[in-house]
Parts: sequence; structure tokens; C-alpha cells
Amino acid sequence: MKNDLTISIAHLYPELLNLYGDLGNIITLTKRCEWRGIKVEFENIHVGDDIKSHDLYFIGGGQDKQQEEVAQELYSHKSELIAQRDDGAVFLGICGGYQLFGHYYQPHDKDKLKGISLMNAYTVAGKKRFIGNVTVKTDFLNPQTLVGFENHSGLTYLEDGTSPLGVSVVGNGNNGVDGFEGARFKNVFGTYLHGSLLPKNPHFADYLITLALEKRYGENIELAPLDDKFELDTHNSLINKAY
Ligand code: GLN
Repeated sequence: MKNDLTISIAHLYPELLNLYGDLGNIITLTKRCEWRGIKVEFENIHVGDDIKSHDLYFIGGGQDKQQEEVAQELYSHKSELIAQRDDGAVFLGICGGYQLFGHYYQPHDKDKLKGISLMNAYTVAGKKRFIGNVTVKTDFLNPQTLVGFENHSGLTYLEDGTSPLGVSVVGNGNNGVDGFEGARFKNVFGTYLHGSLLPKNPHFADYLITLALEKRYGENIELAPLDDKFELDTHNSLINKAY
């Protein structure tokens, strides 16, 4: 693996969207870089801050109220973030953050929240809250599975050009109807999986780190392997586990 690698990571609005331990995703990304000697330049981005260029952006989930606060601020940065997307930056959005990656989120009995259209998708609040464990089968990861926990009433629908992360073999996923969970467009990823997601899915964390390094250095950089026995034992113990 190349030496003297650096990756820049931004956490968008951690004081507002950071539900059910979503901060664990930042900790996992940071540690899995540092354990390999990859320098991490990290920035928390708060309401009112400019958004600089980063290799990877993360945004967590939150209740409708926090989503409202973030939506307006995020929308003010829409063009910069679309430019970052088109430059190959990696985005990971969880639940409420994921919903704002689409064109809009329509809550119950409130005005529609504009999304930043990083992906061709939209969300409308459903009548039922989906709560429980989720197992997703993907076609791009090894192992193929992703495991986590969902808690949302939002129903997300993907439109042309946006692919799901995979199919929900356990749990409801995007809307409980089409069988899909999550979404991907270019290097933008969204999912309903809290848990937090990446500590129990180290292979997905490494996939995102690899994409972010490729964006920065313009080449595919193979990551040194880590001893993931504990993480993968946890992952495997949750596969197909509904309760
Ligand atoms: N408020 C959104 C919903 O209920 C997102 C919730 C969350 O981020 N867990 O669908």
C-alpha cells in the first residue's frame, strides 16, 4: 500500500443529525484509516459553516424537527455538494440524512423539505413506523450482506439512474414494498441502517475508504488487511436476525 496517504472526512451537522449512535460511523472510518497509517483530516461542519472540499462526507439521522433545521442549511449548499459528487467525493447518509440526499422529504402534516438531489429519489412519510433489525443482500460487497437497525416512517422511492444498495432479506428497507434497501448514485450512498452501521460492516467501511482514496489520488489503492474477526463475528451473528 502507498505510504503517506491522507483522507479528508467531514461530518455534516453532527449536533443535529446523529441518532442512535450514528457517530460510530465516523469513529469506524477514522480508526480504520489510522490503523493503516492513513492520515485523517477531519472537520465537523455546523449550521452557518462553509462547506469545503472533502474526500468523504457523512450525515446521520434525526427526528423530523432536526431534519427541518438541517434541510434549509443543506439546500443552501446544494450546488457545491453536487459539484463535489461529480468530482467523485464519497457521501454516506443515514436515514434522515439519506432522505435529504434525494429531491425532497414530505413529512406528515408539514411543508415539504427540499433535498439536495444528490440522487434521483424522493421520500414521503408513511403511516407506519418501521422499527427492527435489517439484513441487506448486496451485489457489490464481500461478504455480500449489510446488517443494521431501522427506525423510520419515511418511505423512499428510487428513480431512474439510482440503484439500491441491495434487497432487504430481513426488515422493510426503503419503503416495505419494492424490497429494496438504501441507494447509490455515483459515490453517493444512502441507507436506513442505524446501529451504527459501519462498526458491524467493516467491509463496507473499507469500500467507502477505498473510493475516497481513489477520488483523492486518482488510482485504486488496495488497503492493508485488518484483523476483523470481532467485527465480522458480530456481523455474522446478526445476519437474518429479525429480533
Ligand atoms: N424523520 C425521518 C423518518 O422518521 C428519519 C428518522 C431517522 O433518521 N431515524 O423517516
